Amino acid sequence: MDKRQAVSLAVGGPYDPPVAVARDRCNRPLPSPVGPSSNAAHTERRLLLVHAHPDDESILTGATMARAVAVGAQVTLLTATRGEAGEVYPPELAHLAGDPAGLAAVREQELAQAMTQLGVRDVRFLTPEPEDPVRRWVDSGMAGTRAAPSPPGQLPFAAADRRQTAAAVARVIRELRPDVLISYDEHGGYGHPDHIAAHHAALGGARLAADPTVDPGSTDARAGSHAYQVPRIYEVLSPRSVVLAGLARAAAAVGQGRAPGLIAHPDPMLAAAVDDELVTTAVDGGPWLARKVAAMRAHATQLRVLDLAEGPLFALTNRIATPVEAVEYYRLIHGRSVTDEGARETDLFAGLNVGDS
Ligand SMILES: [Zn+2]
Repeated sequence: MDKRQAVSLAVGGPYDPPVAVARDRCNRPLPSPVGPSSNAAHTERRLLLVHAHPDDESILTGATMARAVAVGAQVTLLTATRGEAGEVYPPELAHLAGDPAGLAAVREQELAQAMTQLGVRDVRFLTPEPEDPVRRWVDSGMAGTRAAPSPPGQLPFAAADRRQTAAAVARVIRELRPDVLISYDEHGGYGHPDHIAAHHAALGGARLAADPTVDPGSTDARAGSHAYQVPRIYEVLSPRSVVLAGLARAAAAVGQGRAPGLIAHPDPMLAAAVDDELVTTAVDGGPWLARKVAAMRAHATQLRVLDLAEGPLFALTNRIATPVEAVEYYRLIHGRSVTDEGARETDLFAGLNVGDS
């Protein structure tokens, strides 16, 4: 991708991705997402997702986002960094790996394209100071890797002051007043320091937003003045039974030579997963799987996606074949479930009354 094509996302503000018709791999238009493009009146459900890097939102929560758009929810994606320190998958783009600014520009563009596929129109980056477009948080790199030194004003997200990152999320929460907030667990899913930092930013932000004695700062006089408690907060998780079954399926495809270039996971028991009992909620995004796959494919510098008869597989730069899951799993960590004891929820918004928050 030519980085000169990259578009700038408004720092900390709403961003409308380029208007484009979402298409599947065979260039057929995907069904139009329906739903409001404005959040002017709180007459619809609102979903806020806090993620660490471009691609996390599509891999972990893409089907949930597309489903929420389809039922008319206002979906906002808040991403902490532009994936500046990440590895690059396609060999022809390898030069970007040593060019954080160039990679950031490409990944902003990829994120915009992915959100077009999911129908998500409100895409933002978490920003330290609403008034300062230069200062930003950047990808810290995976623990044990050495990230390139950051330019002035750019601070690795994992090293950022937690109260400052929480305040940045709190500003967005008070402005949007979401019904549902999604982020990671305290391990960041698989241990990436930026994911752990995103967990603390999201939960700390929810706490600050709810505290009437706190002013997290704002560029908008109307926002920041009213404390707001997010009714329902979820962590995205991968239950072990699903991960093991999926990796076995993927390994079979590799073993049969149907996933060229990919490898089987060397030890599935070491894959990021949690005990099944921790999962409270399973969102079936089956009807939106094609959109999730298209969104993941838009992250071309990070992912490779293969269509197989039994379902799509993807790989990161480690080339480990991994299924693209249509069902996405969560743990409710704040708020009341309306399902029977022991039963899993199937809808993030079930039991919430529009306008009661
Ligand atoms: Zn990530």
